[in-house]
Amino acid sequence: MARTIKPVCKLCRREGEKLFLKGARCMSPKCAIERRGYAPGQHGKTGQFRRGRSTDYLNQLREKQKARRIYGVLEAQFRRYFQIALRSKGLTGAMLLTLLESRLDNVVYRMGLATSRAQARQLVAHGHIDVNGRRTDAASYLAKPGDVIAVHPASRELNYFKTVVKELADYVPAKWVTIEPSQLSGKMLNRPTREEIDLTLNEQLIVEYYSR
Ligand code: SF4
Repeated sequence: MARTIKPVCKLCRREGEKLFLKGARCMSPKCAIERRGYAPGQHGKTGQFRRGRSTDYLNQLREKQKARRIYGVLEAQFRRYFQIALRSKGLTGAMLLTLLESRLDNVVYRMGLATSRAQARQLVAHGHIDVNGRRTDAASYLAKPGDVIAVHPASRELNYFKTVVKELADYVPAKWVTIEPSQLSGKMLNRPTREEIDLTLNEQLIVEYYSR
């Protein structure tokens, strides 16, 4: 499983905004954006998150990087998603986000089984998640409408999931998934539309980046 090994809070500081990569810590005063509101690196304290001139290219690049970091996807894979989106019907940018949201790790996160996409990715990689009754350890699996995603029966006895059951009672999942807290399972109702994805990304800038 390929993943970034950089300290993730630096990624938020580079983008100048919270990307919510660390679960509960992101909502606490310990968040690095709250404590060190400047870009990382030797010249980061110049008062600006983003160094240098703001050009069209830089804006496009930063938006693409932001999306990649939010979903924890490496460049080659992100580019593959873009190519699939390009060949699909509809708006390329919206389709790109739909594909990213359909990744199994993201669905697990949106169902409330993990507090961050990184944690969800780990749960999947460690074999704690079943799709349609079969253990699936590929975080990049693209979930389809009707897929039933559940915690593997043997994993339900883990203390972590016992805590999750209690927390799910108050959790409101994304509109395009359902959850059954007592069963630690849920279903994907539809592939999320752009309106159902609560991210402030400007996907058109990403399309422009790859269309240069
Ligand atoms: Fe980003 Fe979360 Fe780290 Fe804050 S705590 S900088 S939101 S990853």
